[in-house]
Amino acid sequence: MSKDYYQILGVDKNASAEEIKKAFRKKAHEHHPDKGNGTDEKFKEVNEAYQVLGNSDKKRRYDQFGSSDFSGFGNGGGQPGGGFNWSDFARQQGGQYQNSNFDFSDLGDIFGDFFGSARAGGSRSSARSNKGADLEVNVSITLEEDYFGVDKNFTLNKDVVCAHCHGNGAEPDSKINTCKTCNGQGQVYANQQTFFGAFRTVVVCPDCAGEGKIPERKCSRCNGRGIVKDQENLVIHIPAGINDGQTLKLSGKGNIGLKGAGAGDLFVNIRVLPHAEFVRQGDDLQLRQTIPFTSAVLGEKININTFEGEVKLKIPAGTSSGQEFSIKGKGLPHLNKKGQGNLLVKVSVAVPKHLSSSQKDLLERLKREGL
Ligand SMILES: [Zn+2]
Ligand SMILES: [Zn+2]
Repeated sequence: MSKDYYQILGVDKNASAEEIKKAFRKKAHEHHPDKGNGTDEKFKEVNEAYQVLGNSDKKRRYDQFGSSDFSGFGNGGGQPGGGFNWSDFARQQGGQYQNSNFDFSDLGDIFGDFFGSARAGGSRSSARSNKGADLEVNVSITLEEDYFGVDKNFTLNKDVVCAHCHGNGAEPDSKINTCKTCNGQGQVYANQQTFFGAFRTVVVCPDCAGEGKIPERKCSRCNGRGIVKDQENLVIHIPAGINDGQTLKLSGKGNIGLKGAGAGDLFVNIRVLPHAEFVRQGDDLQLRQTIPFTSAVLGEKININTFEGEVKLKIPAGTSSGQEFSIKGKGLPHLNKKGQGNLLVKVSVAVPKHLSSSQKDLLERLKREGL
């Protein structure tokens, strides 16, 4: 059934683009469902009319073929010899792929902000529907592994290309036919119901997943999907200095997409395990070091453990408990740049609990000396 879009908008067949636009705005306001006398049905009709007449290419086709029945495209619409180039039409529709082929900006003053959100949400989901899913793994590393950086081996259970059909979904010796649902275009129309009416959207053909081709016999291993679950061994390099709770993103290492669509990403959540001696503070490491009270009083060079062996630290005479000394460049490496944090040594002065009688005598003497 063909509708007279000129009549719906109330314009002459020779109306200019500007006049058509004007007429549409007037009618859209008039029939807007939120208006007292507006009706859904009329409003949809006006939109539909403008979708065709407001687009010079579609208007030309409409004028030429006198039909509004573009929706026949999906179901046997591709009649040969009709003079209508369906593939051009489909490409054109696909090219401006959005919520619909409708120019929302023309309605901006009617719907205000509504369009912003309607446009932003949901429009990409179908375009991406074939993309492989993202994967996520959790990795725990020790602080020492964090200090040097580490390679971790993983076995991921993920979607990979089917080796039997090399991803095309056809049994190796099977014939491949043109998809009847989309007539080989890989796309079909779907009506999208929104609160302001139905809009037509171009979506990936559900029968051929956008391939436009369907094998006579589906691949016996993947049942035509072109992908199978398999285990993949992966080595992930975890860079030195990474923080607890940080996530690495490995682009394209997620599930493979359907029939050549892009792979998802792999997200690696890093957990840095607490260390028995060192406490992390940014890129600095903090260490508590107990020293004998004589070292604190007289001063001494002591050995300090680091991830790269022992280093000497000079404790000056007269050091108090709780005093902190910084050993430069012995903290964690800065992530992805040169340099390292410092090792902060906090000193605890040990007070002896058990003394021999000679030690006690000596201390008594010190006491008499006024210490
Ligand atoms: Zn297969
Ligand atoms: Zn198809």
